[in-house]
Amino acid sequence: GAMTLKFDVQPTANPTPPTARTEKLANPGFGRVFTDHMAVVRYNPAKGWHGARVESRASFSLDPATAVLHYAQEIFEGLKAYKRDDGGVNLFRPDANARRFRNSAERMAMAPLPEPVFIEAIEQLVRIDRAWVPGGEGSLYLRPFMIANEVFLGVKPSAEYIFAVIASPVGSYFKGGPAPVSIWVSENYTRAAVGGTGTVKCGGNYAASLRAQAEAIDRGCDQVVFLDAVERRYIEELGGMNIFFVFDDGSLSTPPLGTILPGITRDSIITLAKESGTRVREEPYTIDQWRSDAASGRLKEAFACGTAAVISPIGKVCSAHGDFTINGGAAGPVAMGFRKKLVDIQYGRAADAHNWTRKV
Ligand code: PMP
Repeated sequence: GAMTLKFDVQPTANPTPPTARTEKLANPGFGRVFTDHMAVVRYNPAKGWHGARVESRASFSLDPATAVLHYAQEIFEGLKAYKRDDGGVNLFRPDANARRFRNSAERMAMAPLPEPVFIEAIEQLVRIDRAWVPGGEGSLYLRPFMIANEVFLGVKPSAEYIFAVIASPVGSYFKGGPAPVSIWVSENYTRAAVGGTGTVKCGGNYAASLRAQAEAIDRGCDQVVFLDAVERRYIEELGGMNIFFVFDDGSLSTPPLGTILPGITRDSIITLAKESGTRVREEPYTIDQWRSDAASGRLKEAFACGTAAVISPIGKVCSAHGDFTINGGAAGPVAMGFRKKLVDIQYGRAADAHNWTRKV
């Protein structure tokens, strides 16, 4: 709907001193440094969405019987704010995150947050914490999320929800150039089934992926790639990224939507590829075909994509049935080309033909 809310903005009485902030921004890592504020909106049946505030970042106080603590009725999003050369700040396709968030809410039987409220909360937070957007290749990672807040132990949709947005400055994902990742093919665990929750961003999907990711680390790999839950041979996606394959005829392929998360980076790459005349197929691709295409040279590159790293070339694939390398284990030109195209749009250095960026 077109509904929007007026946010009550209460700047913190204890902002981080500029010197301490500069120190934190110099080496933020990922997800451990947070800005001074948060945006919060509440839902109950009587008032609907109400109480929109931007306030000092603080702990929530939750009754031990709060629904989310028991049945995991929780969803989230991830997007970034980028510092432009002219000092402005760009959001990248926040409308797409707002839509996906609403889809996630519907799948999890939660109150759908109006998309304009989602976007307004993010813009308000970026405005008040603008000084926390790192320069250079860093960015401000934004984490909108919603929890079931009713105090009740019955298994049913919560009547009450808290929506909030927090922000965390992050450094360049690749220090010293894009390092290809190695991935472990999970044969013991799957991520999503038809009719399940694979297409939405609920916390439970990520809890269930941790064991598979731990197995990947045990095998000396960076990331896990999941196969379909029925035949256990079609490539689906990584724990937190979609995947693309690049062939010797110049075409791209990527697994079709259905049980995977519809990544906004994935969609952006498909759009950029098609408009530059590259053929893109959204079609099933098996692990056996991948192995044989890598061996024959038909496959030139593979890369993973998502908000956090934009594009990660895949250098090596490991499984219980043996390992193989792609492009000699090096970053390929197609992956790096899309990476530069996307990053240049995000930071406002290239023309934004699709109106993907929103200046705050
Ligand atoms: N797949 C999964 C499972 C993810 O968690 C993410 C990150 N949101 C992606 C793909 C990539 O999505 P996006 O490009 O929208 O960040």
